[in-house]
Amino acid sequence: MNRDTWMYGLQRHDKEYLTRLKDFLKVAEGHRVKKGERQIWCPCKKCQNCKNFTDSKSIEEHLICHGFMNGYTRWSRHGELLIDSNTVDTETNDDDIDDFDNDNYDQIDDILHDIQDDVPNKYFENFQQLFVDAEKPLYVGCTKFTKLSAMLKLFNLKANNGWSDKSFTNLLEILHEMLPEDNELPVSLYQAKKLVCPMGLEIERIHACPNDCMIYRDQYDGQDKCITCGKSRYIQKNTEEEDNVKRNAPPTKVLWYLPIIPRLKRLFVNAKDAKLLRWHFEKRSTDGIMRHVVDSPQWRNIDYEFKEFAAEIRNIRFGLS
Ligand SMILES: [Zn+2]
Ligand SMILES: [Zn+2]
Repeated sequence: MNRDTWMYGLQRHDKEYLTRLKDFLKVAEGHRVKKGERQIWCPCKKCQNCKNFTDSKSIEEHLICHGFMNGYTRWSRHGELLIDSNTVDTETNDDDIDDFDNDNYDQIDDILHDIQDDVPNKYFENFQQLFVDAEKPLYVGCTKFTKLSAMLKLFNLKANNGWSDKSFTNLLEILHEMLPEDNELPVSLYQAKKLVCPMGLEIERIHACPNDCMIYRDQYDGQDKCITCGKSRYIQKNTEEEDNVKRNAPPTKVLWYLPIIPRLKRLFVNAKDAKLLRWHFEKRSTDGIMRHVVDSPQWRNIDYEFKEFAAEIRNIRFGLS
């Protein structure tokens, strides 16, 4: 009896279901011991592998009351590989590609679960999508790749071989056409990135003068030419047109700005990190011996000079002088 049949086809009080459920619990328990973990993830319809328990009894109860979550025939959260190890081994030998090995695929799922508690609410939906993509076959009937594993493998190749964004997009388009029609492969780099980095930090792109005189921001946002050197903000086909700038042409230079506030916020998202960030206030020793920047007179001077700032124990210093 295959898993589809007993997991989703049988009544949950059926003797066969209960026996096979015990087998599942054995596998899950074995994985827990192997990983040296205390908890087991619950794959019931309600918990969806997003809640864990220290006793397998609770999980057994859930799986009897609610049944297994949909499509969980490969027990990837409980030690089984997301993709079929046999097929991968035979397909990807004797080439010089720096492959993810099967352990890596296994780890993708582990990593997702490890970081899920640290995901801010704003990104939670995107993150849940990542779980879905980690389980979804690349196309109906595909056992070798999931949507996520295929994309990670391709990104790995791109990075190892220095492929340009353009060539990568072209490859995605062709692969998408070659695969069966219902395939899940993203067709653009944007979609692909959205898939693998659903929580990417925001980036601000600001146009700049090619000679680095100025950036087109705030009161200069509407300008077409550099106020210092007169160079056009946009690329001109020929230089005679310099006076007559075309606004729909691409910018001559773009500054990528990574806003600091989201980065600072992210530092505090993880409870453990947030605690470490208060170390300078809560845990530093006060024996008068200088071991760390926090013991320096400069640190104290800043505290003295900016009392309100010093009083906030979560304060962060980028540099001291
Ligand atoms: Zn459950
Ligand atoms: Zn300039």
